[in-house]
Amino acid sequence: AKRTPGSKEHFARVGAMIPAGATRSLNSWPPYPVYLDRGAGGTVWDVDGNAYRDFLANYTALPLGYADPDVTAAIREQLPHGTSHSFSRALEAELAELVVARVPSLERVRFTGSGTEAVMFALRLARAHTGRPLVAKAEGGYHGTTDDVMISVRPPADLAGDVRSPASVPEMRGIPASRTRETLVVPFNDVAASQEILRAHADRLAALVLEPVLGVGGMIPATAEYLTAMRATCDELGILLVFDEVITLRLAYGGAQQAYGVTPDLTTMGKIIGGGLPIGAYGGRADIMGLLEPRGGTDVYDSRSGGPALYQGGTFTGNALSLAAGIVTLGKLDAATIDALNRTGDLLRRELTGVFAAAAVDAVVTGVGSLFNIHVGPRRVEVFRDVRAVDAARQHAFFLGLLNHGVIVAPRGMGCVTTCTTGDDVAAFTAAVRLTLHDITEAG
Ligand code: PMP
Repeated sequence: AKRTPGSKEHFARVGAMIPAGATRSLNSWPPYPVYLDRGAGGTVWDVDGNAYRDFLANYTALPLGYADPDVTAAIREQLPHGTSHSFSRALEAELAELVVARVPSLERVRFTGSGTEAVMFALRLARAHTGRPLVAKAEGGYHGTTDDVMISVRPPADLAGDVRSPASVPEMRGIPASRTRETLVVPFNDVAASQEILRAHADRLAALVLEPVLGVGGMIPATAEYLTAMRATCDELGILLVFDEVITLRLAYGGAQQAYGVTPDLTTMGKIIGGGLPIGAYGGRADIMGLLEPRGGTDVYDSRSGGPALYQGGTFTGNALSLAAGIVTLGKLDAATIDALNRTGDLLRRELTGVFAAAAVDAVVTGVGSLFNIHVGPRRVEVFRDVRAVDAARQHAFFLGLLNHGVIVAPRGMGCVTTCTTGDDVAAFTAAVRLTLHDITEAG
């Protein structure tokens, strides 16, 4: 609190207008959040002038760090020509070409305003294509904030041990309980149980949406066996397989699907393809994406009122700034750069594992490539249920402790490295983690 009087004061002021003092719920935490002023490279400064090494990079959206000079120049070049326009800009084709050339399963692509919208449109498309009403997601999967995907299962205690008939529940108030009948939840990385649930509902299931690595759910990679089996089961049952690569696209040049060698029918993307500006995208098989083409006649004008073409809106979709920033960012994220990012991530996780082995409190780091998550409380995290063993109080104390030592990760311990992350950053991070673990152990 001594270091952040400005944030404290700002919280009092903004909290009187904006519930929780933050528009993004994640950005508010007790006793009060830190408010940032600016960022450059791997560093951000708060309103009190404190510097932080930022290992979150806007929740993995900034693979080049803050204010990359080339991205900034591209945005600056667009600015005098207008930020968003009434009609499409030619820039849209450039970003589409880059994305389609990278990601193996993309024959067609559409941009959206966010990852949330990408998933929303992809699932609607899957329902339209298959004529089936239900979708399935994995336990612990995060796919944005629509009712469709903010569905989970109760902790195992409430399941009476029966993983095969999981009782879906809305993740928050305001989501109608009826939506739980339209979204099934399968246990991540459990081939047999997932297959059983998919089979039981196959004739009504349009899509299975999966993150190749559970992101917000704790950076838990799918096993290759799981993704391969889900691909085969979806084929067998006529269910579309959707990979949500909003976070995982950064793991390989062609996304996690390339690394795993598993080809989804549809893919959703976001974050890195917008270079730090708002964006999302969905795409995949040409025959499915073809539902977005007008079928001739007046359909192109009429699609909102029930014409055969699926309608997609979004005032700021395909805006010039997001496209320009995305084009430069993907251009710089070539295969060698992604490789280097992944090696930095490997180093970070290796160092942390060493720290945890010697620590008095149980903690573990998960993740792959440039992504990681530190879990305080569990001794190992291999499936999502292990995340439930997190000691919430200590995890929060750890997060606050790292902040006080000048390091940013997500409140739940998620983070990433960027092209700005140096060996010195990794060493400083590791030292801060060691000190913080010591502090929270002392505090009991
Ligand atoms: N899918 C995944 C896997 C995500 O991690 C996120 C955001 N963290 C989303 C979808 C939603 O993206 P956005 O925040 O851009 O709406």
